[in-house]
Amino acid sequence: MTAVNDATATANSDAPVLLDLPPLTAAHFARIEDKVAALMGTEADVVAMQGEALLPLEACIRSAVRPGSTALNIITGPYGETFGGWLRSCGAEVVTITAPFTGAVSPQQVADALRENPAIDFVSLVHAEAATGNTNPVAEIGAVVREHGALLMLDAVASVGAEPLRTDEWGVDLCVIGGQKALAGPAGVSAASVSARAWERIAANEQAPRRSYLSLLDWKERWIDGGRTALPHAPAQLEMLALEQAADRVNDERLDAVIARHRAAAAATRAGVRALGGLTPYVLRDEDAAPAATTLRAPEDVDAREVVAAALAANGGVPLQAAAGALAKEMIRLNHYGRAADRGVVLAALSALGEGLRTLGAETDGEAALEAAGAAWDAVIGG
Ligand SMILES: *Cc1c(COP(=O)(O)O)cnc(C)c1O
Repeated sequence: MTAVNDATATANSDAPVLLDLPPLTAAHFARIEDKVAALMGTEADVVAMQGEALLPLEACIRSAVRPGSTALNIITGPYGETFGGWLRSCGAEVVTITAPFTGAVSPQQVADALRENPAIDFVSLVHAEAATGNTNPVAEIGAVVREHGALLMLDAVASVGAEPLRTDEWGVDLCVIGGQKALAGPAGVSAASVSARAWERIAANEQAPRRSYLSLLDWKERWIDGGRTALPHAPAQLEMLALEQAADRVNDERLDAVIARHRAAAAATRAGVRALGGLTPYVLRDEDAAPAATTLRAPEDVDAREVVAAALAANGGVPLQAAAGALAKEMIRLNHYGRAADRGVVLAALSALGEGLRTLGAETDGEAALEAAGAAWDAVIGG
C-alpha cells in the first residue's frame, strides 16, 4: 500500500491516504465486525451495515415485524417517533409509551404495558438519546421484556462507548450502533447484532426484506452462513477502516476509560451549569442524563437559539447546538461525545455559555461554573 501511495501522493503529502488501497478482504471485514461486537458486549452475530445507523434500525424492524405483530414502541426522544412509523408500515399493532424528555422510561411502565397487552411480541427502545439528553435503564427493562418473551430492539447509537452496553447480558435481541458518536469514528457505517431468537423470528417472517439493502437475511445467507469467507458486495472500505481505527483507539485507551470520560463530561456539565445560573439541566435526575450529551433549558424569557448564537459568538469551537423542531426555543444541547468528552472542551463550552448569557443580560457566575465543573470532572476521573 505504501509504495503505490508514496508514488502518487504528490499534490499534498499531508493528506490522508484514501485512494488506491488494496481491497478490504473478507477476513479483515470479519475482524472489524468482531471488534465492534466486543464493544457491544455481544457474542451474537454482528453485521456491519454499509450505511448510516438508520439503515440497520429500519432493517431490524422490517425483518422482525409483520402484519399481526403487536409492538411496544417506547418513545423517549425523536428516534422513537421514526420507529413507530416503520412499525405501522409493517402492519403491526403499535402500543406506545411516551416518557417526557426530562427523564427516562421506568421498567414499571414497561411491565404495565406488557401486562395490559399480552400480545406484544416486539419492543423497540432507544438506550441513550443524544438529541434530548436522556438515557434509559436498559438492564431492568431488558429483564422485564425477556420475562414476557418479546424481542427487544435497542438503538445504542448514542450509548456505545459512552456508557456500559451489555447486549447479551441485558437480553437485547437486536442492537444497533453507529461509529460517529462516542466511538469518535466515521458516520456512514453501522452495525446490528442479531440474537439466535431474533434470527428464528426473522427467518419465519415472510414479509422480511429479501434481495434488498434492508435485508438482514441476505447478510445471514450470503455472509454469515458461509463462514464469513466471501463478501456479498464491495464494502464501504474507507468507512470500515475508519471504524476499525476508532475501535482500536477505544481499546488502546480502554473502553472503561472512554466511558468514564463521558460520565465525567456529563457530570461536569451538569454541575457547571447549576453553578453558572441562568440555565438548568433539561433532564432532571443525574441518573437519567445521557453521558453523550447534556441538554439545557434556556432561561424562561430567552430563546435557546439566541443563547447558542451568543455562546458560539464567544467561542465558535465548542460543540453547542440548539435543539431541532418543537424544542428549538427552549433546549440547548452540548454534544460532549467522542473527542469532545474532554475536560477542556466542557470548560470551554461553559465559559462560552456564560459569556453568551451575559451579553444577553443574564446574571451568571462563570468562575463558580468552572470550579464546580472541574471538581465534578475530577471526582469521576480522579484528577
Ligand atoms: C445519532 C443517532 C442515530 C442516527 O444515526 P445515523 O448514523 O445518523 O443514522 C440514531 N439513534 C440515536 C439514538 C442517535 O443518537
